[in-house]
Amino acid sequence: MEPTEFQEIAHTGGRLTFIYKEGGGLSVRLEHSRPSPATVFQVCIALDGQIVDYVAIGGIGSPSFYPQPSILAYLISDREGKFGQECKVCDSYFRTSVPSRWTVCPYCGDRQRGITFLTQNQLQFLTKYFNAYVEASQKGKTVTVDLDEMVDALTHNSQSWVYTEQRQQSGHACKCGCSYDILGNYGLCPACGSPNYVASFGRTVAGIEAQFDGERIDPRNVPGEMFARVFSEFEALGNCVRRQLSRLPANETRRSEVRRINFQRLTEAADLLERCFAIALFKDIAPAEVEYLSLMLSRRHLIIHNGGRVDERYLQMTKDSTVRLNEVVRVNLDDAKKTLSLMRKCGINIVNGWQSIK
Ligand SMILES: [Zn+2]
Ligand SMILES: [Zn+2]
Repeated sequence: MEPTEFQEIAHTGGRLTFIYKEGGGLSVRLEHSRPSPATVFQVCIALDGQIVDYVAIGGIGSPSFYPQPSILAYLISDREGKFGQECKVCDSYFRTSVPSRWTVCPYCGDRQRGITFLTQNQLQFLTKYFNAYVEASQKGKTVTVDLDEMVDALTHNSQSWVYTEQRQQSGHACKCGCSYDILGNYGLCPACGSPNYVASFGRTVAGIEAQFDGERIDPRNVPGEMFARVFSEFEALGNCVRRQLSRLPANETRRSEVRRINFQRLTEAADLLERCFAIALFKDIAPAEVEYLSLMLSRRHLIIHNGGRVDERYLQMTKDSTVRLNEVVRVNLDDAKKTLSLMRKCGINIVNGWQSIK
């Protein structure tokens, strides 16, 4: 295996020993010598090979309970101490430092028993582990297994996902102690389900603001793509909230209405959120500022779709008398910053509104 490839189950340079005890029964010893932060979780496997559950590794005085008869297998993390996970509901991938008995998909929010998120590699690894255990038990002797050989025997033990930059993977640390990696910025903690939305949005907005304050920015003419990002980041956040809102109990008519919320049409989206969920997107934003935002949104539309050139539709919709047909619109720094600050409010409003639904 290429050293640059990232393994979902780490090579540990170690071994597993199944120690046969006189009179029957096996105990297992795991040794690994690689100074990587590979962590280990216990998985309970029934004697017919069915994976039952994760089992906490108990310290002194913290007995762990699991169904008997069964065996406990060690599941090893990747070299960054994380475990790959697959949501079978939305067919997506993420990594977590804490595989838990109940796991929330960071993307779709579905909560399932943790073991349903095991990946093909992990299932294969556990099967090999189980078979080695059974073999030692049947032969009635102590058996040592080279862990690297076991890992090498996995068919797809690499995750190109980890280093594929254009897919924009991001890492998050939750207050509950879990750290996780997802695609995109916005997700729910797989261990406790809390959204990272406000923190992630805050970071992204701060990043855009820092660009606005960059030395090479002409205060009379902020680059169009930079200005457009203010809205596209809000849209990304809004779409994630929409996905969670569409999971709430509702009849089909309402659900399909919710799924159609379009955050490029801000006032329309605000009306719908108010009507369906009593979420005030424009809380603490004056009506004149809402109108201002609509104007900025129309300018963004021109910048993205028309090279910034004013067209009939723009003039009709905005009644903007400061520009003429075919003129190229510009966004100055004050407008860019004002827009950013208003959209930051909208972002926080929509997340808080969603979170207030109990
Ligand atoms: Zn999912
Ligand atoms: Zn958490």
